[in-house]
Amino acid sequence: MQFFKNLFTKTFSTRLTVTSSNGFHLRPVAKFISEAKKFTCDINISFAGKTVNAKAVSPLLSLNLAPNDTFTLSLAGKDAQEALSTLTETFQTLMQEDKAIPNIEKRTHHYESQVLEGESIFEGVAIAPLFFYTREETFSPTNLTFKESVDLSLEELETLYTTHKHDEAGIYLAQKELLLSLSKESTSLDTFEVHIDEASKKLTGGRFEAKITDYLDLLQRVKSHLGYRYESTFPAHPFILYADDLLPSDITSLEKSAVQGVILQETSPTSHTAILLRASGVPSLILPEKIQTYAQHVILDTRCALLVPTPSAEDTRQAKEAQARHQYQANNSHAKRFEQACTKKGKQISVYANVSDVDSAKVAKEEGAEGIGLLRTEFLFGTEKPSQQAQIDAYGNIFDLFEHITVRTLDVGGDKALPYIQIPKEKNPFLGIRGVRLFQTHPELMEEQLYAIFTAAKHKPIKIMFPMISSVEEFNETKRFALHVAKKHTIDISHILFGIMIEVPSVLFLLKAFDDVVDFYSIGTNDLTQYLFATERTHPTLQIDPLSPVIFSVLANIVTQVKKPVSICGELASDTEAIPKLVTLGLETLSVSAKSIARTKEEIRHV
Ligand code: PEP
Ligand code: MG
Repeated sequence: MQFFKNLFTKTFSTRLTVTSSNGFHLRPVAKFISEAKKFTCDINISFAGKTVNAKAVSPLLSLNLAPNDTFTLSLAGKDAQEALSTLTETFQTLMQEDKAIPNIEKRTHHYESQVLEGESIFEGVAIAPLFFYTREETFSPTNLTFKESVDLSLEELETLYTTHKHDEAGIYLAQKELLLSLSKESTSLDTFEVHIDEASKKLTGGRFEAKITDYLDLLQRVKSHLGYRYESTFPAHPFILYADDLLPSDITSLEKSAVQGVILQETSPTSHTAILLRASGVPSLILPEKIQTYAQHVILDTRCALLVPTPSAEDTRQAKEAQARHQYQANNSHAKRFEQACTKKGKQISVYANVSDVDSAKVAKEEGAEGIGLLRTEFLFGTEKPSQQAQIDAYGNIFDLFEHITVRTLDVGGDKALPYIQIPKEKNPFLGIRGVRLFQTHPELMEEQLYAIFTAAKHKPIKIMFPMISSVEEFNETKRFALHVAKKHTIDISHILFGIMIEVPSVLFLLKAFDDVVDFYSIGTNDLTQYLFATERTHPTLQIDPLSPVIFSVLANIVTQVKKPVSICGELASDTEAIPKLVTLGLETLSVSAKSIARTKEEIRHV
């Protein structure tokens, strides 16, 4: 009997790879499961020697599937074939649509009092007294049974999912799926608590540890219908909340309060609490240290990822100024991020993005980028060497997003390492095998990269630039190498332009000669500054003034000497104090990080 069953049971399987930088986390898992449940066949996912039911949230989440993990999806039963194609497509769409957690660039600060540094969740400046938050539990039983409380909680989550407008509403759908699967095995509050505890333990120490608060949130929601009350009274006056952690459901009541900022000790940037804080736009910080302060107010400056527990009068003045500026920019500039940036005299400046992968390119598009001014390809792939096809696909996906694209060939070395590229240990890595020098040491790798870029570009007139170029001969030789690769593979690259990053000071003395051979330049002030001042850019104590007059006179020199198009892609391009000077010098293309696009455009409009 068993034999026939096996013979006639249709089984299918496929291998799928997690491509979202957040991993296969609760929200996509919940959506995947609600799709899987529409089929009658058995659906399992196997990873790292473990096989789990793909129709239940907790087991699937406990696999801790991280970016680049490849798992097997197997299906057995009548509708297995149809399920295979639907679920493969669902999974791929979920991965593509999953937004990367925005990367907040930490700015340098100028506070004179002691500061405590943490990790920012959402950028802003808040000045208010601290409020130490604790949750009080009281109990006065209701008439509801455990089952009724669960049903009511499910209804609430469904309403929250359908009525919340922001993208993050999927969290409520995910919590609903979690509750469905946990409550199925529970007959009473006690067994439910045991299951919550077991499920939480499975996540402890794993990639999705921060999702434990979702379990606690569900427990609290169900218990509230049984008569447990959680008093979360907030002060009537403006305050900065400090707590070890918050539950996602706390954010809804917090949003209605006079909260100015939030400091949490124990969450992570990918927790649902953090995601909802970001969506509600409250400046928030993760600060693992315990804080004590008797000051009347504190300064929370998450642009610099810090708290000033006992600010001086000068610190407060400075913070108020930064706060006014930040609020003005946030309100005005973000709404206008898709509009062109023109100076008061009507000169249009292009604002492009510095990106490193498909996710960040998508974020850049949403933030109003008009093109990609720097694609840092060294961050495009994870720890393993990507296949030729994976490279072509990744470039193709990015190239499809914008009309203007500048790709930089691998800039590995210095402070950037790739595990699959062996560079012998060097005494001064920043002065060693880095950037374009890889064409000498790793020609096969560079050939593979160029082939992938050429293939993905198809007929698009993209720009390719070489990093760390120091002489005209080096550029000529590298370009010859590229032309040879195209010829070898019979690819027409007549529509592709070749240029250089200006990062090495020797280039400053060769501009006239370079102008005869390159198609364009991009100024990399991060490296140019480190090499001009002989001060390593990652040095923990030595710092260079990014606004040094030396830099601006170098930039002026470049702009006046070269005839070929020149843009700037170093961090200086998004510095609010530098932007007016850069535009006045004649730079017409600024390439900045995605999060700085709206602000950079706004700054240009005031020049
Ligand atoms: C630069 O050096 O300014 C630059 C943009 O390149 P990277 O920061 O990637 O070295
Ligand atoms: Mg550089």
